[in-house]
Amino acid sequence: MMREELVFGPIHSRRLGSSLGINLLPTKGKLCNFDCIYCECGWNKDGRTDEKLPTADDLRAALESMLVKCSESGTPIDSITFSGDGEPTLNPDFARIIDVTLELRDRFYPNAKVSVLSNATRIGREDVFSALRKVDNPILKIDAPADDLAALVNQPQGSYHVEDVVRNLQRFEGDFVLQTMFLKSGSFDTSSPDVLEGWMDIVRKVHPREVMIYTLDRETPAKDLVKFSVDEMRELVKPLIEEGFSIQIRG
Ligand code: SF4
Repeated sequence: MMREELVFGPIHSRRLGSSLGINLLPTKGKLCNFDCIYCECGWNKDGRTDEKLPTADDLRAALESMLVKCSESGTPIDSITFSGDGEPTLNPDFARIIDVTLELRDRFYPNAKVSVLSNATRIGREDVFSALRKVDNPILKIDAPADDLAALVNQPQGSYHVEDVVRNLQRFEGDFVLQTMFLKSGSFDTSSPDVLEGWMDIVRKVHPREVMIYTLDRETPAKDLVKFSVDEMRELVKPLIEEGFSIQIRG
């Protein structure tokens, strides 16, 4: 599903309440340094990235006008979420954009939570890291505990080492949400015992304040993928639940 606006919504969801979305990527294309086989935005090669990326000034104008409109009409806003067509931290103005968003949030809806969904590939950069430390919910992805499985599931477009991501995640000192997709196909299964053990070891190492696991929901670019049920996923992560981790499961 492609987002055509820089600021969209508000959409009502059970999980986030009344939520505004921000898409920092080209409004008519996908831009990501992963090419996940389950990506709702389709394959990178089919995305059109013919437009320039929004700047912090563009975001200020669009978000301020949306927040003015919502506050004048008495529309509640519980959350502001960066979740566009690709990886938001690839926007070169990302750090300034976060500052502008937090400033506007404080002015119009001080109780709204700011969340960023990211594939965690760029958290080793100081500017990205410190921006993500400022938001309420940095939601950071690790789908595979080893590089060979990540190559199949996430298809990174540059060098990617799970070990580096884990080391960088440890710098959050547990103050982040880890997001993991559970799925299988003819050639891999993220619930196989060795994959699951490796992933659980990573969870123990980075100790996120919350783990969000989910499975396929909408149409995916790869066609041979199989989803899990909520009950299956609950069973898979049982050891972590018993160890006291807070785990949210979405089917
Ligand atoms: S990281 Fe997100 S936007 Fe990028 S390819 Fe994967 S699912 Fe799509």
